[in-house]
Amino acid sequence: MKTALITGITGQDGSHLADFLLEKGYQVVGMVRRTSTVNFDRITHIQDKVTLTQGDLLDQVSLVDIMKEYQPDEIYNLAAQSFVPASWKQPVLTGEFTALGVTRMLDAMRMVVPEARFYQASSSEMFGKVREVPQNERTPFYPRSPYGVAKVYGHWITVNYRESYGLFACSGILFNHESPRRGLEFVTRKVTHGAARIKLGMAQELPMGNLEAQRDWGFAGDYVRAMWLMLQQDEPEDFVVATGIPHSVRELLEVAFGHLGLNYRDHVEVDERFIRPADVDQLVGDATKARDSLGWVPEVAFEELIKMMVDHDLALLGKPG
Ligand code: NDP
Ligand code: GDP
Repeated sequence: MKTALITGITGQDGSHLADFLLEKGYQVVGMVRRTSTVNFDRITHIQDKVTLTQGDLLDQVSLVDIMKEYQPDEIYNLAAQSFVPASWKQPVLTGEFTALGVTRMLDAMRMVVPEARFYQASSSEMFGKVREVPQNERTPFYPRSPYGVAKVYGHWITVNYRESYGLFACSGILFNHESPRRGLEFVTRKVTHGAARIKLGMAQELPMGNLEAQRDWGFAGDYVRAMWLMLQQDEPEDFVVATGIPHSVRELLEVAFGHLGLNYRDHVEVDERFIRPADVDQLVGDATKARDSLGWVPEVAFEELIKMMVDHDLALLGKPG
């Protein structure tokens, strides 16, 4: 039985990846931060099937100790400060978690389990003010937020440790991916949750930011499969993972509110508070390499994804109590 270590197991992707790896018969070890109250909402359903262990990306010793104790075959580094607006409010902390945290993980692996395979959660936000459309593995980076900058560091340190020390380390450049487990502050979930609240009479309005921004949104369940596929290859390489189809925030609003028989124009107002100091206008990925080398194709399309999230939020909010 193989052992997989997941950092960020309490997050959206970590929980989906844990589901996927358990299905494949892995022993799953999840690293969690110490908090005064636990928040395991996304992994409650598998809590008795995974091993949770305390560690923090800020603390080198904790990472080394986890590698020593569990001797993982595969390491998925998903933990990060992952919300772009928060990265302007806490740029140094974002750099510590999202950038230097990657080096700490790679060093722990290099010292204790150099034969393990490593996945780094890189991001399409690295393309930022895009240099070409669509973006592929060779497109130059131009990050537009402290988060994007930190991810560029994480990406290049992964490539450098691979080339310097011969580690099996891959970087997955994933475009935005969503699910009913997405954090409430991200735009898809904010809209699906907000529309459901309005439908149920719990709210009247939904203040929003830049409605013209476009993203290439896919389903998290599809994207964690790509992470695993990358670590099953003969050679470590980097891959773009995307659907190849962009949609605007406005289209997102139309689909979500429309699914509930509502017109978003009656409820949505642009609020300056949600406009960013700098935004990424459009992201659209070219996942040809992932399709050809990994045999990966996304299975859930945009409309289906958004309707799935709306239905989930309606059921969640409609539950008694
Ligand atoms: P989430 O924000 O849902 O989850 C982040 C996870 O990281 C949480 O489990 C969080 O723990 C953990 N974490 C944060 N800081 C630390 C720390 N210092 N030490 C240990 N754990 C920490 O993110 P997603 O699941 O959506 O994303 C997973 C990864 O993929 C992230 O690195 C993200 O930046 C990247 N990514 C995501 C994309 C997306 O569209 N979802 C696109 C491209 C990249 P806690 O529960 O305690 O807060
Ligand atoms: P990101 O691509 O990682 O920044 O993911 P988000 O889901 O946070 O944002 C995607 C896009 O939606 C960005 O271009 C935002 O400017 C835009 N957007 C518009 N209104 C909002 C909003 O109210 N909240 C968030 N989070 N994003 C918004």
